[in-house]
Amino acid sequence: MIGTMTETTAETTAVRGQEGTAATGRDLPDEATARLVAGGWVLPTAVPGLLCHTAKFEAVLARLQAVLTAADPSASPGPVWYPPVAPRADIDRAQYAEAFPHLLGSVHALEPDGEPAGLDLSDDSARRPADVVLAPAVCYGVYPLLADSVITEPVFCDVAGTCYRHEATSELGRYRSFRMREFVTVCGETAAPLWRDSWITRCEKLFGEVGLTVSVEPASDPFFGPGGRFMKTSQIQQNLKFEFVVPVRADDAGTAIASANCHKEHLGERFAIRFADRGWAHSSCMAFGLERIMLALIHAHGDTLADWPDALA
Ligand SMILES: [Zn+2]
Repeated sequence: MIGTMTETTAETTAVRGQEGTAATGRDLPDEATARLVAGGWVLPTAVPGLLCHTAKFEAVLARLQAVLTAADPSASPGPVWYPPVAPRADIDRAQYAEAFPHLLGSVHALEPDGEPAGLDLSDDSARRPADVVLAPAVCYGVYPLLADSVITEPVFCDVAGTCYRHEATSELGRYRSFRMREFVTVCGETAAPLWRDSWITRCEKLFGEVGLTVSVEPASDPFFGPGGRFMKTSQIQQNLKFEFVVPVRADDAGTAIASANCHKEHLGERFAIRFADRGWAHSSCMAFGLERIMLALIHAHGDTLADWPDALA
């Protein structure tokens, strides 16, 4: 077990994730994950969709982040990192829970002051919703900073953070906890889709340069509830979302590793952001699923970094 990992040299080596070590004390969920463990990239946890990433994995991810920073035309020095939890009020104002109630993870805790007599600390029902939820996406941290204001120039942001989505399935690549890098613009109605389209072109080139042949596909979000089917159809018909799809494991027909999204005025209106005298601001985001991109790269280039493109090795 991981809990006893320091007791023997062999276990310590496995937990460090050195290349060539095959196993830990945990059961490996599937062959694809076992292959990544053997390659020294990840370690499992007891929960599907939740992996630990080794120093080898993180070193390449840092180089991938530098490639993304260099691709940003707004000359960002690098992302602003958000915490893994977000103010509940901000996520409520974005109406995330109404569109995706099944994906949102909440935080419950005991009240910090006062301990009712006779409280059974093992009883989870005593815990109350906290004022934070698990961040479902990073760009929801941007709009509250501009809330209730008028902007007169397009705003460009470069943000990153750890996100959580309560995904039902757990095949390798469907992370529940994952890191996301997002480039975001809040601007006028005409500029938002043009900015999004310029990122689509840029990403096709960027992914090609790191050896990934992606297909760009119109997509929809997994809307839930009575209006879900309408929202999904509407999103596809209006060409609001495109995904960059590529295999991330041997038996994979294709997984989205990034998405380019137009939100129209949805978030501008929710957060009362106006663009000059032209009504609600529009917004777009270019989101990169960092672990998924890494899985695609490992699938394409293998375990030996000498075989990888220069920009990442
Ligand atoms: Zn976003």
